[in-house]
Amino acid sequence: MLSRVLLVTALAAFSSAAFAQAQELNLYSARHYQTDEALYSNFTKLTGIKINRIEGKEDELLERIRNEGANSPADVLLTVDAARLAKAHELGLFAPVSSKVLEARIPAHLRTEDWFSFSTRARVIVYNKLSVKREEVQTYESLAAPGMKGKVCTRSGSHPYNLSLLASIIANQGEAQAEAWARGMVANFARAPKGGDTDQIKAVAAGECQVATANTYYIARMMRSDKPEDRKVIERIGVVWPNQATSGTHINVSGGGVLKHAPNREAAIKFLEYLASDEAQRYFADGNNEWPVVAGLKISNPALETLGSFKADKLPVRNLAMYQSKAQMIYDRAGYR
Ligand code: FE
Repeated sequence: MLSRVLLVTALAAFSSAAFAQAQELNLYSARHYQTDEALYSNFTKLTGIKINRIEGKEDELLERIRNEGANSPADVLLTVDAARLAKAHELGLFAPVSSKVLEARIPAHLRTEDWFSFSTRARVIVYNKLSVKREEVQTYESLAAPGMKGKVCTRSGSHPYNLSLLASIIANQGEAQAEAWARGMVANFARAPKGGDTDQIKAVAAGECQVATANTYYIARMMRSDKPEDRKVIERIGVVWPNQATSGTHINVSGGGVLKHAPNREAAIKFLEYLASDEAQRYFADGNNEWPVVAGLKISNPALETLGSFKADKLPVRNLAMYQSKAQMIYDRAGYR
């Protein structure tokens, strides 16, 4: 009798341990947006799977996963920019995932075999309404034209956002054109590259320079801000969707994948599928002012509504990644620091 009781107890202990293991997910995330909290807690509510989150800077997380090797507890890596996702792929950190849900929900140009985009952001032109006419800045090419001498400000050429923009120009127009563009930009600099996207937007509003490129969520964030100084910036700038008559506006993504040594692979795939659900997609849009990758989803973000709709460049994200090192070489040659 005693031995039977022991056996039952042992079995119960075993199955509860197995249960506990299946109900966890280790997420390495380079997204640091407060609104993402709701994403994670809702996933746990829906599935019972607890998320252990480790946040870090993009490149540090990649390094960490690489160093942890086969012992890495990481199940999913979430990060921003196609360039960084591609780097994780090249380092062999991701494992292929075949999921009918992800294939059905995410357009083919926004996914690869081992990493997936969950939101998009556009790189648009911001101009000073007092000194620049909207018609003058309809394309990325127009920023590199002789008429813009001394008017352009920019963040560094080695930042992934600008590398991906140049990668899209290489993919669409070839290397020679891309280099001519980079050189034209350098010739038009109002000042040496410095700061982030928000700094360029502010410099344009202040008249320190007249045009810049910036990611849309930075603009939307200022549009939704209560601070009077942000309101003033927004009043002074115009926003253009570049290249509407040609290739479309360059977009980049945030996304992620399941890691090769994921101890909780099943939970990891479930989590990616959750990120492609209507609910999670709305969080990306309404919380962080990005666009959902799922087509036709109704969102309620007044800033994105004001920005309106546009034609996006349909270049596959894998091609952006493919031309990163070429883009860096071109910027270096052109002196776009
Ligand atoms: Fe950013």
